[in-house]
Amino acid sequence: MDPGVATPLVPCAHVSLLVQKFGGTSVADAERIKAVADHIVATRKEGDAVVAVVSAMGRSTDDLERLAHDVSQAPAPREMDMLLTAGERISISLLCMALIDRGQRAVSFTGSQAGIVTDTSHGRAKIVEVKAERIRDAVAAGDIAVVAGFQGVSTARDVTTLGRGGSDTTAVALAAVLGAEACEIYTDVAGVYTADPRIVPQARLLPRVSYEEMLDMAATGGKVLALRSVEFARNHGVAVHVRSSFTWQPGTWVREEDPSMEQAIISGVTHDTSEAKITIEQVPDRPGVAATIFRALADELVNVDMIVQNVSTAGHTDVSFTAPKEDLARALQVMEKMRVEVDAAGVSHDPLIGRVSLVGAGMKSHPGVAAQMFEVLAAEGVNIEMISTSAIRISCVVHEDDVAKAVRALHRAFDLDAPDAGAS
Ligand code: ADP
Ligand code: ASP
Ligand code: MG
Repeated sequence: MDPGVATPLVPCAHVSLLVQKFGGTSVADAERIKAVADHIVATRKEGDAVVAVVSAMGRSTDDLERLAHDVSQAPAPREMDMLLTAGERISISLLCMALIDRGQRAVSFTGSQAGIVTDTSHGRAKIVEVKAERIRDAVAAGDIAVVAGFQGVSTARDVTTLGRGGSDTTAVALAAVLGAEACEIYTDVAGVYTADPRIVPQARLLPRVSYEEMLDMAATGGKVLALRSVEFARNHGVAVHVRSSFTWQPGTWVREEDPSMEQAIISGVTHDTSEAKITIEQVPDRPGVAATIFRALADELVNVDMIVQNVSTAGHTDVSFTAPKEDLARALQVMEKMRVEVDAAGVSHDPLIGRVSLVGAGMKSHPGVAAQMFEVLAAEGVNIEMISTSAIRISCVVHEDDVAKAVRALHRAFDLDAPDAGAS
């Protein structure tokens, strides 16, 4: 559910408001935090009011997660959220100290203090409402409000987290509710590229991407923006500007599609190795079986993604699906019960898979993209295990070891490599 968006409030008629979000690498150490403070002060001097949203420093969320698993085999979800929210608390207070040192009034807010109200699903909570009065008051008083990303307070008054990468969602939700001119997402790359620049050095920076394309990129592994933040931006028309906190140069604008511009057939190649494949073998091929299996998975909150049912032979069929690796143990427990209940022959799983996707709005009007994708993968000797499509996306599940090779080959074959690539 989306939060109730209250009447936008801009501090005074001629001042516009920017939400600036700084990811983990952007606040990784004292020097980075001071650089961020300088940037916020400079933005403020240019006349814009600023609400800053920050992530935990560097990889400290990963460190806290590891620590939790060192003390407990299955950390209690409520306590895990309590632990993880500590990371962002450190960065908001440090950033405020740096701002105050620069003569800029600043106040830090936890998610709860900022009025981020969520449902009760620990670890993957959804924002149900943003009660931003305290933030509005701070902005009206001329303060920089510095808000802890990724966290909220549930309708049952417990601390929650929004899922990994969730600071993006905090930032976009606040931008929507506050009626901000834009939501700037500062990160460690220059913007949204045609592929993850860490896998494809020849990837090109995209000056603009439509909400629709960004949704499919985020849903298939383009983790530069969290999926929920993009859904939010589209639903509330928030203009998102993804850019670097190292160069401070303009990056990528994510906003409504511009009908006057010709659409690229393919805007990007994404990949995702966070899921596992599960197969239930020789399921009786009769009405209601798929409903029974997937209802049971949904009831256990397993996030099922791709589903493939094979051709039926002798009244039996195999059903495979993918789900996040962190849901694998739960999914296997459900499937073991299902094996008995629907009288299937067995259950198998494979965590060593990856998904490679082509995303592009122009695909809608260009036949043959799927055929070319399969030919490219075949030429690389990459076996396709599952296929799924949407209007503007084609995804293939392949062996995890083939992912990088597949992404690079597709990027080249669909003419996405930067023009000067390979020149040196
Ligand atoms: P932050 O900590 O700032 O939120 P993230 O690590 O969540 O940063 O997201 C930025 C990373 O996203 C980049 O370092 C890059 O490796 C990765 N990434 C994946 N796909 C893309 C893409 N298509 N364009 C840009 N970055 C991408
Ligand atoms: N610190 C959280 C994470 O690492 C949230 C975020 O960075 O967006 O996932
Ligand atoms: Mg992120």
